[in-house]
Amino acid sequence: MSLIADEIITFSSVLRMAYNLLNGRNYLKRKKFREKEKLVAVTLPFSDLAFAAGTVPVFPIRMHKFEISQYLSYLGSASSIFGWKNVSNFLSFIKNLGINEVSKIVDDIIENVIDTINVKYNEMYDVGIENGISSDFCYGLKSLVGMHVTKGRNVDACLNVTIRCSAYNKYLESLKSINEKPSQIWIDIPPRNLGNSIELLTDNISNALNEFEKLTGNSITDNDLREHFKIGNQIKRSYKNIIYDISASDFYPCNPATFSEIMALLSITFQDYNSNATRYRDNIVALEKEMRERIRNGIGMDVSKMPRIFVTPMFGGWEPKTHEILYELGGRALYADWELLKFLEEIPTGSHTNPSEEYARFLMRATETGIGCDNDKLTDSYLRMASDLNADGIVFFQLFGCHSISNCYAMLREKVRRELEIPITAITFNKIGDNVEQVKTRLGAFMEMFKY
Ligand code: SF4
Repeated sequence: MSLIADEIITFSSVLRMAYNLLNGRNYLKRKKFREKEKLVAVTLPFSDLAFAAGTVPVFPIRMHKFEISQYLSYLGSASSIFGWKNVSNFLSFIKNLGINEVSKIVDDIIENVIDTINVKYNEMYDVGIENGISSDFCYGLKSLVGMHVTKGRNVDACLNVTIRCSAYNKYLESLKSINEKPSQIWIDIPPRNLGNSIELLTDNISNALNEFEKLTGNSITDNDLREHFKIGNQIKRSYKNIIYDISASDFYPCNPATFSEIMALLSITFQDYNSNATRYRDNIVALEKEMRERIRNGIGMDVSKMPRIFVTPMFGGWEPKTHEILYELGGRALYADWELLKFLEEIPTGSHTNPSEEYARFLMRATETGIGCDNDKLTDSYLRMASDLNADGIVFFQLFGCHSISNCYAMLREKVRRELEIPITAITFNKIGDNVEQVKTRLGAFMEMFKY
Protein backbone atom coordinates (compact mmCIF):
# COMPACT_ATOMS: atom_id res chain seq x y z
CA MET A 1 0.00 0.00 0.00
CA SER A 2 2.19 2.78 -1.21
CA LEU A 3 -0.23 5.41 0.01
CA ILE A 4 0.84 4.50 3.50
CA ALA A 5 4.50 4.71 2.59
CA ASP A 6 4.06 8.05 0.84
CA GLU A 7 2.50 9.52 3.88
CA ILE A 8 4.82 8.16 6.52
CA ILE A 9 7.85 9.39 4.65
CA THR A 10 6.96 12.96 5.49
CA PHE A 11 7.00 12.15 9.20
CA SER A 12 10.71 11.93 9.85
CA SER A 13 9.97 11.27 13.53
CA VAL A 14 8.13 8.07 12.56
CA LEU A 15 11.06 6.96 10.48
CA ARG A 16 13.38 7.49 13.44
CA MET A 17 11.13 5.57 15.81
CA ALA A 18 10.82 2.70 13.35
CA TYR A 19 14.59 2.66 12.91
CA ASN A 20 15.19 2.66 16.67
CA LEU A 21 12.65 -0.10 17.16
CA LEU A 22 14.07 -2.44 14.55
CA ASN A 23 17.71 -1.57 14.94
CA GLY A 24 17.60 -2.22 18.70
CA ARG A 25 19.99 -5.15 18.47
CA ASN A 26 22.98 -3.06 17.36
CA TYR A 27 22.21 -0.28 19.80
CA LEU A 28 21.88 -2.74 22.69
CA LYS A 29 25.07 -4.59 21.78
CA ARG A 30 26.95 -1.31 21.86
CA LYS A 31 25.44 -0.40 25.22
CA LYS A 32 26.27 -3.78 26.72
CA PHE A 33 29.69 -4.56 25.35
CA ARG A 34 31.28 -1.19 24.64
CA GLU A 35 29.67 0.99 27.24
CA LYS A 36 29.32 -1.79 29.83
CA GLU A 37 25.76 -0.87 30.70
CA LYS A 38 23.28 -3.30 32.22
CA LEU A 39 20.34 -4.51 30.14
CA VAL A 40 17.04 -5.06 31.93
CA ALA A 41 14.09 -6.94 30.36
CA VAL A 42 10.75 -5.15 30.77
CA THR A 43 7.20 -5.85 29.61
CA LEU A 44 4.20 -3.51 29.59
CA PRO A 45 5.12 0.13 30.26
CA PHE A 46 7.03 -0.58 33.47
CA SER A 47 10.45 0.70 32.47
CA ASP A 48 10.65 3.80 34.73
CA LEU A 49 12.79 2.41 37.55
CA ALA A 50 15.19 0.78 35.12
CA PHE A 51 15.74 4.16 33.42
CA ALA A 52 16.09 6.03 36.71
CA ALA A 53 18.66 3.45 37.85
CA GLY A 54 20.81 4.18 34.80
CA THR A 55 20.27 0.75 33.22
CA VAL A 56 18.97 0.05 29.71
CA PRO A 57 15.42 -1.36 29.64
CA VAL A 58 14.53 -3.57 26.72
CA PHE A 59 11.36 -5.22 25.55
CA PRO A 60 13.03 -8.55 24.73
CA ILE A 61 11.82 -8.89 21.12
CA ARG A 62 14.04 -5.92 20.24
CA MET A 63 17.18 -7.99 20.83
CA HIS A 64 16.35 -9.96 17.69
CA LYS A 65 17.68 -9.23 14.27
CA PHE A 66 14.95 -8.03 11.92
CA GLU A 67 14.82 -8.70 8.22
CA ILE A 68 14.57 -5.10 7.10
CA SER A 69 17.04 -3.62 9.50
CA GLN A 70 19.65 -3.77 6.74
CA TYR A 71 17.84 -1.09 4.70
CA LEU A 72 17.07 0.86 7.77
CA SER A 73 20.68 0.72 8.80
CA TYR A 74 21.64 2.43 5.50
CA LEU A 75 19.24 5.15 6.44
CA GLY A 76 20.63 5.18 9.96
CA SER A 77 24.16 5.66 8.64
CA ALA A 78 22.99 8.39 6.26
CA SER A 79 21.14 10.09 9.07
CA SER A 80 24.21 10.17 11.30
CA ILE A 81 25.91 12.23 8.59
CA PHE A 82 23.05 14.32 7.18
CA GLY A 83 20.50 14.27 9.99
CA TRP A 84 17.10 12.53 9.91
CA LYS A 85 15.21 15.51 8.60
CA ASN A 86 17.42 15.70 5.52
CA VAL A 87 17.22 11.97 4.95
CA SER A 88 13.44 12.19 5.10
CA ASN A 89 13.37 15.13 2.67
CA PHE A 90 15.70 13.27 0.37
CA LEU A 91 13.47 10.20 0.38
CA SER A 92 10.41 12.29 -0.48
CA PHE A 93 12.41 13.90 -3.28
CA ILE A 94 13.41 10.51 -4.70
CA LYS A 95 9.84 9.26 -4.53
CA ASN A 96 8.63 12.36 -6.33
CA LEU A 97 11.17 11.78 -9.08
CA GLY A 98 9.63 8.35 -9.54
CA ILE A 99 12.86 6.36 -9.44
CA ASN A 100 11.17 3.01 -9.08
CA GLU A 101 13.83 0.85 -7.55
CA VAL A 102 14.70 3.31 -4.84
CA SER A 103 11.03 4.02 -4.29
CA LYS A 104 10.44 0.31 -3.84
CA ILE A 105 13.08 0.07 -1.15
CA VAL A 106 11.60 3.04 0.62
CA ASP A 107 8.11 1.55 0.42
CA ASP A 108 9.38 -1.76 1.73
CA ILE A 109 10.99 -0.15 4.73
CA ILE A 110 7.94 1.74 5.84
CA GLU A 111 5.19 -0.70 5.02
CA ASN A 112 6.96 -3.56 6.66
CA VAL A 113 7.77 -2.09 10.04
CA ILE A 114 4.65 -3.34 11.81
CA ASP A 115 4.45 -6.47 9.64
CA THR A 116 8.05 -7.34 10.41
CA ILE A 117 7.61 -7.04 14.13
CA ASN A 118 4.44 -9.14 13.90
CA VAL A 119 6.16 -11.91 11.95
CA LYS A 120 8.69 -12.03 14.78
CA TYR A 121 5.89 -12.09 17.36
CA ASN A 122 4.42 -15.14 15.64
CA GLU A 123 7.86 -16.78 15.54
CA MET A 124 8.21 -16.18 19.27
CA TYR A 125 4.74 -17.61 19.83
CA ASP A 126 5.85 -20.83 18.11
CA VAL A 127 9.04 -20.98 20.21
CA GLY A 128 6.88 -20.51 23.33
CA ILE A 129 4.73 -23.47 22.35
CA GLU A 130 7.75 -25.63 21.46
CA ASN A 131 9.05 -24.92 24.93
CA GLY A 132 6.00 -26.46 26.45
CA ILE A 133 4.13 -23.36 27.61
CA SER A 134 0.59 -24.31 28.54
CA SER A 135 -1.77 -23.89 25.59
CA ASP A 136 -4.01 -22.16 28.06
CA PHE A 137 -1.84 -19.04 27.92
CA CYS A 138 -2.79 -16.09 25.71
CA TYR A 139 -0.90 -15.06 22.56
CA GLY A 140 1.04 -12.31 24.36
CA LEU A 141 2.35 -14.62 27.08
CA LYS A 142 3.32 -17.37 24.65
CA SER A 143 5.36 -14.92 22.59
CA LEU A 144 6.92 -13.39 25.70
CA VAL A 145 8.13 -16.84 26.76
CA GLY A 146 9.55 -17.27 23.24
CA MET A 147 11.41 -13.95 23.57
CA HIS A 148 13.01 -15.01 26.86
CA VAL A 149 13.89 -18.48 25.58
CA THR A 150 15.66 -17.01 22.54
CA LYS A 151 17.18 -13.82 23.95
CA GLY A 152 16.65 -13.72 27.72
CA ARG A 153 20.19 -14.81 28.53
CA ASN A 154 21.53 -11.53 27.14
CA VAL A 155 19.95 -9.41 29.84
CA ASP A 156 21.42 -8.77 33.28
CA ALA A 157 18.07 -8.57 35.04
CA CYS A 158 14.33 -8.86 34.56
CA LEU A 159 12.06 -6.25 36.11
CA ASN A 160 8.94 -8.15 37.14
CA VAL A 161 5.92 -6.03 38.05
CA THR A 162 2.84 -8.05 38.95
CA ILE A 163 -0.60 -7.19 37.54
CA ARG A 164 -4.12 -8.48 38.19
CA CYS A 165 -3.73 -11.35 35.70
CA SER A 166 -2.60 -14.55 37.44
CA ALA A 167 -1.38 -16.06 34.15
CA TYR A 168 0.89 -13.03 33.63
CA ASN A 169 2.28 -13.38 37.15
CA LYS A 170 2.86 -17.09 36.54
CA TYR A 171 4.81 -16.20 33.40
CA LEU A 172 6.96 -13.78 35.46
CA GLU A 173 7.67 -16.56 37.96
CA SER A 174 8.74 -18.90 35.15
CA LEU A 175 11.50 -16.52 33.98
CA LYS A 176 13.99 -17.84 36.54
CA SER A 177 13.74 -21.34 35.13
CA ILE A 178 14.02 -20.15 31.52
CA ASN A 179 17.33 -18.35 32.19
CA GLU A 180 19.16 -18.66 35.49
CA LYS A 181 21.67 -15.85 35.04
CA PRO A 182 19.63 -12.62 35.06
CA SER A 183 18.60 -11.40 38.50
CA GLN A 184 14.88 -11.11 39.06
CA ILE A 185 13.80 -7.75 40.45
CA TRP A 186 10.24 -7.82 41.74
CA ILE A 187 7.60 -5.20 42.42
CA ASP A 188 4.42 -6.65 43.85
CA ILE A 189 1.46 -4.35 43.46
CA PRO A 190 -1.24 -4.96 46.08
CA PRO A 191 -4.44 -5.84 44.21
CA ARG A 192 -6.54 -3.19 45.96
CA ASN A 193 -5.88 0.21 47.47
CA LEU A 194 -6.87 -0.60 51.02
CA GLY A 195 -5.31 0.40 54.38
CA ASN A 196 -1.56 0.61 54.05
CA SER A 197 -1.32 -0.53 50.41
CA ILE A 198 0.55 2.60 49.26
CA GLU A 199 3.04 2.19 52.11
CA LEU A 200 3.57 -1.46 51.22
CA LEU A 201 4.03 -0.65 47.54
CA THR A 202 6.45 2.19 48.35
CA ASP A 203 8.51 -0.34 50.35
CA ASN A 204 8.44 -2.77 47.44
CA ILE A 205 9.69 0.00 45.15
CA SER A 206 12.51 0.87 47.59
CA ASN A 207 13.53 -2.79 47.69
CA ALA A 208 13.55 -2.95 43.91
CA LEU A 209 15.74 0.19 43.83
CA ASN A 210 18.17 -1.53 46.25
CA GLU A 211 18.35 -4.46 43.84
CA PHE A 212 19.11 -2.06 41.00
CA GLU A 213 21.88 -0.48 43.07
CA LYS A 214 23.40 -3.92 43.65
CA LEU A 215 23.18 -4.60 39.91
CA THR A 216 24.96 -1.41 38.82
CA GLY A 217 27.05 -0.61 41.87
CA ASN A 218 25.70 2.97 41.76
CA SER A 219 23.31 4.62 44.15
CA ILE A 220 19.99 6.02 42.96
CA THR A 221 18.93 9.38 44.34
CA ASP A 222 15.46 10.93 44.56
CA ASN A 223 16.62 13.35 41.90
CA ASP A 224 17.47 10.51 39.51
CA LEU A 225 13.89 9.33 39.84
CA ARG A 226 12.43 12.82 39.41
CA GLU A 227 14.59 13.56 36.37
CA HIS A 228 13.39 10.40 34.66
CA PHE A 229 9.75 11.04 35.64
CA LYS A 230 10.01 14.50 34.04
CA ILE A 231 11.07 12.94 30.74
CA GLY A 232 8.35 10.30 31.07
CA ASN A 233 5.77 13.02 31.72
CA GLN A 234 6.74 14.87 28.53
CA ILE A 235 6.35 11.64 26.56
CA LYS A 236 2.93 11.00 28.10
CA ARG A 237 1.78 14.56 27.41
CA SER A 238 2.58 14.28 23.70
CA TYR A 239 1.07 10.80 23.51
CA LYS A 240 -2.16 12.04 25.14
CA ASN A 241 -2.28 15.06 22.81
CA ILE A 242 -1.96 12.78 19.82
CA ILE A 243 -4.78 10.57 21.14
CA TYR A 244 -7.24 13.30 22.15
CA ASP A 245 -6.43 16.32 19.99
CA ILE A 246 -5.60 14.47 16.81
CA SER A 247 -6.96 10.90 16.68
CA ALA A 248 -10.37 12.00 17.97
CA SER A 249 -10.54 15.04 15.66
CA ASP A 250 -12.15 15.39 12.23
CA PHE A 251 -9.06 16.22 10.22
CA TYR A 252 -6.10 13.84 10.15
CA PRO A 253 -2.56 14.73 9.10
CA CYS A 254 -2.59 11.61 6.89
CA ASN A 255 -5.03 8.89 5.89
CA PRO A 256 -6.58 6.96 8.81
CA ALA A 257 -4.84 3.66 7.99
CA THR A 258 -1.47 5.41 8.18
CA PHE A 259 -2.56 7.09 11.37
CA SER A 260 -3.46 3.76 12.97
CA GLU A 261 -0.13 2.35 11.83
CA ILE A 262 1.61 5.17 13.70
CA MET A 263 -0.54 4.54 16.77
CA ALA A 264 0.38 0.84 16.66
CA LEU A 265 4.04 1.81 16.46
CA LEU A 266 3.62 4.05 19.52
CA SER A 267 1.85 1.30 21.40
CA ILE A 268 4.69 -1.20 20.83
CA THR A 269 7.52 1.23 21.49
CA PHE A 270 5.99 2.83 24.57
CA GLN A 271 6.90 -0.26 26.60
CA ASP A 272 10.64 0.42 26.68
CA TYR A 273 10.87 3.80 24.89
CA ASN A 274 13.13 2.02 22.38
CA SER A 275 15.65 1.75 25.26
CA ASN A 276 16.41 5.47 25.34
CA ALA A 277 13.94 7.77 27.10
CA THR A 278 15.43 11.12 26.02
CA ARG A 279 15.63 10.12 22.37
CA TYR A 280 12.08 8.76 22.50
CA ARG A 281 10.86 11.98 24.12
CA ASP A 282 12.45 14.03 21.35
CA ASN A 283 10.86 11.82 18.70
CA ILE A 284 7.34 11.84 20.09
CA VAL A 285 7.42 15.61 20.72
CA ALA A 286 8.58 16.05 17.11
CA LEU A 287 5.86 13.70 15.91
CA GLU A 288 3.15 15.75 17.59
CA LYS A 289 4.64 18.90 16.10
CA GLU A 290 4.86 17.42 12.60
CA MET A 291 1.25 16.28 12.80
CA ARG A 292 0.04 19.69 13.97
CA GLU A 293 2.03 21.47 11.27
CA ARG A 294 0.46 19.35 8.55
CA ILE A 295 -3.02 19.94 9.92
CA ARG A 296 -2.36 23.69 10.13
CA ASN A 297 -1.30 23.68 6.49
CA GLY A 298 -4.36 21.69 5.45
CA ILE A 299 -2.29 18.63 4.51
CA GLY A 300 -4.07 15.40 5.30
CA MET A 301 -7.62 14.13 5.14
CA ASP A 302 -11.08 15.17 6.24
CA VAL A 303 -12.30 12.17 8.25
CA SER A 304 -15.46 13.73 9.69
CA LYS A 305 -17.69 11.27 7.84
CA MET A 306 -15.76 8.18 8.93
CA PRO A 307 -17.05 6.49 12.09
CA ARG A 308 -14.54 6.35 14.94
CA ILE A 309 -14.07 2.73 15.93
CA PHE A 310 -12.29 2.16 19.21
CA VAL A 311 -10.29 -1.07 18.83
CA THR A 312 -9.13 -2.71 22.06
CA PRO A 313 -7.40 -4.47 23.81
CA MET A 314 -4.28 -4.80 21.72
CA PHE A 315 -1.47 -5.32 24.24
CA GLY A 316 -1.99 -9.09 24.67
CA GLY A 317 -2.21 -9.61 20.90
CA TRP A 318 -4.55 -8.30 18.20
CA GLU A 319 -5.00 -8.62 14.47
CA PRO A 320 -2.96 -5.75 12.95
CA LYS A 321 -4.90 -5.92 9.67
CA THR A 322 -7.92 -4.54 11.55
CA HIS A 323 -7.24 -0.86 10.85
CA GLU A 324 -6.68 -1.45 7.15
CA ILE A 325 -9.90 -3.46 6.90
CA LEU A 326 -11.84 -0.80 8.81
CA TYR A 327 -10.40 1.90 6.58
CA GLU A 328 -11.47 0.03 3.46
CA LEU A 329 -14.94 -0.27 4.96
CA GLY A 330 -15.15 3.48 5.50
CA GLY A 331 -14.21 3.67 9.19
CA ARG A 332 -11.15 4.60 11.22
CA ALA A 333 -9.57 2.60 14.03
CA LEU A 334 -8.60 4.36 17.25
CA TYR A 335 -6.01 2.73 19.48
CA ALA A 336 -5.54 3.99 23.04
CA ASP A 337 -4.70 1.01 25.25
CA TRP A 338 -2.10 2.69 27.44
CA GLU A 339 -4.35 5.65 28.12
CA LEU A 340 -7.21 3.32 28.98
CA LEU A 341 -4.99 1.45 31.42
CA LYS A 342 -3.87 4.76 33.01
CA PHE A 343 -0.25 4.42 31.97
CA LEU A 344 -0.29 7.95 30.53
CA GLU A 345 -0.89 9.62 33.89
CA GLU A 346 1.86 12.03 34.84
CA ILE A 347 3.90 11.52 38.02
CA PRO A 348 4.38 14.59 40.28
CA THR A 349 8.03 15.68 40.39
CA GLY A 350 8.04 18.66 42.82
CA SER A 351 11.07 18.87 45.13
CA HIS A 352 8.87 18.31 48.20
CA THR A 353 7.57 14.98 46.86
CA ASN A 354 8.77 11.51 47.73
CA PRO A 355 9.32 10.03 44.23
CA SER A 356 9.04 6.39 45.35
CA GLU A 357 5.70 7.14 46.95
CA GLU A 358 4.52 9.06 43.88
CA TYR A 359 5.48 6.11 41.71
CA ALA A 360 3.57 3.83 44.08
CA ARG A 361 0.48 6.03 43.63
CA PHE A 362 0.93 5.92 39.86
CA LEU A 363 1.14 2.10 39.81
CA MET A 364 -1.80 1.82 42.20
CA ARG A 365 -3.96 4.05 39.99
CA ALA A 366 -3.09 1.99 36.92
CA THR A 367 -3.97 -1.18 38.82
CA GLU A 368 -7.14 0.07 40.44
CA THR A 369 -8.74 2.29 37.85
CA GLY A 370 -6.98 1.23 34.64
CA ILE A 371 -6.63 -2.51 34.34
CA GLY A 372 -9.04 -2.72 37.28
CA CYS A 373 -9.08 -5.05 40.24
CA ASP A 374 -12.33 -6.62 39.01
CA ASN A 375 -14.38 -6.78 35.81
CA ASP A 376 -16.71 -4.05 36.97
CA LYS A 377 -13.86 -1.54 37.19
CA LEU A 378 -12.21 -2.81 34.02
CA THR A 379 -15.40 -2.44 31.98
CA ASP A 380 -15.81 1.05 33.43
CA SER A 381 -12.36 1.87 32.00
CA TYR A 382 -13.44 0.76 28.53
CA LEU A 383 -16.61 2.77 28.81
CA ARG A 384 -14.79 5.88 29.98
CA MET A 385 -12.25 5.61 27.17
CA ALA A 386 -14.86 5.08 24.45
CA SER A 387 -16.80 8.05 25.69
CA ASP A 388 -13.69 10.29 26.01
CA LEU A 389 -12.79 9.44 22.42
CA ASN A 390 -16.33 10.10 21.32
CA ALA A 391 -16.27 6.65 19.71
CA ASP A 392 -19.08 5.61 17.36
CA GLY A 393 -18.43 1.92 17.87
CA ILE A 394 -16.17 -0.58 19.67
CA VAL A 395 -14.32 -3.64 18.40
CA PHE A 396 -13.25 -5.84 21.29
CA PHE A 397 -10.59 -8.52 20.90
CA GLN A 398 -11.29 -11.69 22.83
CA LEU A 399 -8.05 -13.57 23.21
CA PHE A 400 -7.94 -17.30 23.25
CA GLY A 401 -6.51 -18.32 26.63
CA CYS A 402 -7.25 -15.02 28.38
CA HIS A 403 -9.36 -15.61 31.44
CA SER A 404 -8.75 -12.22 32.90
CA ILE A 405 -9.64 -9.47 30.42
CA SER A 406 -11.49 -11.30 27.66
CA ASN A 407 -14.18 -12.68 29.90
CA CYS A 408 -15.44 -9.21 30.74
CA TYR A 409 -16.98 -8.89 27.27
CA ALA A 410 -20.53 -9.88 28.22
CA MET A 411 -20.57 -7.29 31.00
CA LEU A 412 -18.98 -4.68 28.73
CA ARG A 413 -21.51 -5.26 25.95
CA GLU A 414 -24.34 -4.83 28.41
CA LYS A 415 -22.92 -1.59 29.83
CA VAL A 416 -22.18 -0.18 26.37
CA ARG A 417 -25.73 -0.87 25.21
CA ARG A 418 -27.18 0.66 28.34
CA GLU A 419 -24.94 3.67 28.80
CA LEU A 420 -23.35 4.57 25.46
CA GLU A 421 -25.84 3.12 23.01
CA ILE A 422 -23.23 2.48 20.34
CA PRO A 423 -22.57 -0.75 18.42
CA ILE A 424 -20.01 -3.16 19.82
CA THR A 425 -18.65 -6.42 18.46
CA ALA A 426 -16.16 -9.04 19.61
CA ILE A 427 -13.51 -10.73 17.50
CA THR A 428 -11.83 -13.87 18.73
CA PHE A 429 -8.08 -13.92 18.36
CA ASN A 430 -5.56 -16.71 18.56
CA LYS A 431 -2.57 -15.75 16.42
CA ILE A 432 -1.70 -12.90 14.03
CA GLY A 433 -2.87 -13.63 10.49
CA ASP A 434 -4.83 -16.74 11.55
CA ASN A 435 -8.34 -15.68 10.67
CA VAL A 436 -8.11 -12.48 8.64
CA GLU A 437 -11.01 -13.60 6.42
CA GLN A 438 -13.21 -14.05 9.45
CA VAL A 439 -12.18 -10.63 10.76
CA LYS A 440 -13.14 -9.13 7.39
CA THR A 441 -16.55 -10.77 7.43
CA ARG A 442 -17.22 -9.77 11.02
CA LEU A 443 -16.12 -6.17 10.48
CA GLY A 444 -18.04 -6.00 7.21
CA ALA A 445 -21.26 -6.85 9.04
CA PHE A 446 -20.37 -4.48 11.88
CA MET A 447 -19.69 -1.52 9.59
CA GLU A 448 -23.06 -2.03 7.88
CA MET A 449 -24.60 -0.59 11.05
CA PHE A 450 -23.08 2.81 10.29
CA LYS A 451 -24.55 3.10 6.82
CA TYR A 452 -27.95 4.40 7.81
S1 SF4 B 1 -4.25 -10.96 27.51
FE1 SF4 B 1 -5.32 -11.79 29.31
S2 SF4 B 1 -4.18 -13.64 29.91
FE2 SF4 B 1 -2.89 -12.44 28.53
S3 SF4 B 1 -1.61 -11.20 29.92
FE3 SF4 B 1 -3.38 -9.94 29.30
S4 SF4 B 1 -4.88 -10.30 30.91
FE4 SF4 B 1 -3.38 -11.94 31.11
